Amino acid sequence: MSKTFGRHQAVRDVSLTIEPGEFVSLLGPSGCGKTTLLRLIAGFLSVDRGTISIEGADLTGLPPQRRPLNTVFQNYALFPHLTVAENVAYGPRRGGAGKAEADSLAADALELVGLVDFGNRYPRQMSGGQQQRVALARAIVNRPKLLLLDEPLSALDLQLRKRMQIELKQLQEKLGVAFVFVTHDQEEAMAMSDRIAVMNSGRIEQLGTGAEIYRRPATRFVAEFIGEANLLPVEDGDGGPLRVRSAKEESGRVAVVRFEHLRIDPNGAAQDSDPATTRLDGHIETVTTIGGATNIHVAALGHTLTGRRLGIVEEFAPGQPVTVSFRRQDVHIIEDPRP
Ligand code: ATP
Repeated sequence: MSKTFGRHQAVRDVSLTIEPGEFVSLLGPSGCGKTTLLRLIAGFLSVDRGTISIEGADLTGLPPQRRPLNTVFQNYALFPHLTVAENVAYGPRRGGAGKAEADSLAADALELVGLVDFGNRYPRQMSGGQQQRVALARAIVNRPKLLLLDEPLSALDLQLRKRMQIELKQLQEKLGVAFVFVTHDQEEAMAMSDRIAVMNSGRIEQLGTGAEIYRRPATRFVAEFIGEANLLPVEDGDGGPLRVRSAKEESGRVAVVRFEHLRIDPNGAAQDSDPATTRLDGHIETVTTIGGATNIHVAALGHTLTGRRLGIVEEFAPGQPVTVSFRRQDVHIIEDPRP
């Protein structure tokens, strides 16, 4: 699919297949086109080019309410003057169900989200997390094949958000409904998704499991957006250690060295003897403690390299000479790194 607003291409030739019951996140920075892609799937926007189908049925020209899917919005969009049960029963009623049938469907949906006793309350009498669950119940009451969720947890505080991530994932598994979930939070995407589509400038840069994307980022953008990494220009050493180029040398090849894979030893300390380990001499720039871990920044060959150790580390001082090293097997090489 592609979508242009004026001269701005918000979605560029995106192709995406979602398996039944799969949880796929659209992850990327602000403005990369996540919400636009979601709205195209939902039918709130029409595609310029491309098609959308579910189980072989073409939906491209259908209005949102005729697509076998539903959307959960960031602000929940509950009706304030209807009770929780009425909010959930609203969809089936509008779809032509009788009152008894709609009420029974609503009760089932509220049961699924753990709000069976809250049917008679009004949205304003519910907490943020509970309103979120009402919005979910309303979205699943018609048993859609696909649920689209646009940053549904972003209004919640951090602790509740973490709890809802687990709840939502469990609910999704129980329902067996495919989810497409928009987020700009990489930890959230990692924690919940079967696969993640990393988006940048209207394109999907990489589609894979969290582990695949973390271990083998396809581009420089993905390596920097997911997790933290040292990106070093290198030359391959024919199975031996990679040779790191200085910051001034151009290179078409970049090694992605995750912080946890960069080892830092005081100069002259015993080293591991693996012949495929790259070693560089440098000196400590700064040491920063980030709670449960410490980031150790080292200057070497004109680069600043960062290593991370668990806990609080006090053995290094700025200016101290050190050796940094990393093993060939822990490093992923990007051959043609685009900026
Ligand atoms: P965010 O995380 O900030 O919500 P996003 O990745 O969801 O960002 P989109 O909302 O899809 O991004 O927007 C993608 C680009 O398209 C942005 O540059 C945005 O300004 C532009 N855009 C989105 N909707 C419209 C519109 N209706 N008219 C014009 N431009 C639009």
